[in-house]
Amino acid sequence: MKTTDADVMVLDEPMETESTVKPAREPRARKTAAPKELKIFIDGKFYPESNAKVSVFDHGLLYGDGVFEGIRFYNGRVFRLEQHLERLWESARSITLEIPLSIPQMTEALLETIRQNDLRDGYIRLIVTRGVGNLGLNPVQCKKPSVIIIAATITLYPAEFYQKGLTIATVATRRISPGALSPAIKSLNYLNNIMARIEANLADADEALMLNDAGYIAECTADNLFVIKHGQIATPPISAGALGGITRSVVFEIAAALEIKCTEKNITRHDVFTADECFLTGTAAEIVPVVKADARAIGNGKPGAITQRMMERYHKLTRETGTPISS
Ligand code: PMP
Repeated sequence: MKTTDADVMVLDEPMETESTVKPAREPRARKTAAPKELKIFIDGKFYPESNAKVSVFDHGLLYGDGVFEGIRFYNGRVFRLEQHLERLWESARSITLEIPLSIPQMTEALLETIRQNDLRDGYIRLIVTRGVGNLGLNPVQCKKPSVIIIAATITLYPAEFYQKGLTIATVATRRISPGALSPAIKSLNYLNNIMARIEANLADADEALMLNDAGYIAECTADNLFVIKHGQIATPPISAGALGGITRSVVFEIAAALEIKCTEKNITRHDVFTADECFLTGTAAEIVPVVKADARAIGNGKPGAITQRMMERYHKLTRETGTPISS
């Protein structure tokens, strides 16, 4: 990878120094009003997005061998950063991938990536790949994992989904079983979820409802699922094939604060069809109401009152808490 291009900013190598990540020089002034390119962090250096490249021999590309996180920042603060980093480290540990930065170094690299892009509200994609190896799948050939950080703006769902709710459809693709690959690992292997997403697209639904091998609900393709019945909230346990979602854990906290009972239990399609309310959670999606499952209205077919209270509380938390971007 070239590092001497005129518009590449060379930074301190995080592996070699504890110091904060600072650009060695400012980017060149632009002569024309070209669209602003993002600055992407790759292994300690920032590259304009048109020049942000990884090797074709990186096992992240060749085999989906790596882990990632999707993190949001709001109003100048990164939401639940420690929890995201903890999950990243756990995913990496589970696949015996050694992240080449300490948690404080990773935190600083993330914050600096946001600063470099002059953002206050947006989304971070943090990726750690197995690194460059040969064409064989054995990771023993990959000597140096790569860290990539992209900070950008994001709107996942249209505003209408939050006001009117979205639709989900049960898909034939089962959530991968823990015996094959733990769904608790947030790995670069998302083909299982992508196959389900394709089915949802073909069924004209906004999201896919994924079951596990036993027929219980696991989660959706990029979100956890919650149902509400008689004023009580329930969500599938991690053992049912759900990712330990950060937004999911915030829902537990909000429910406790509002004194609403919230339990983890096996949930069937019947429970969804007969629920009073249903919603999905995810960093990108936040909390979004579900009003139809397999073309059947849930409750009265409108976003429910408890869901709306959860959404309001969640928005308040995202705007008022988090790790400040500027030091
Ligand atoms: N399940 C899957 C498969 C996901 O990819 C995500 C998004 N990371 C979630 C659930 C929701 O997790 P979180 O709230 O941490 O974004």
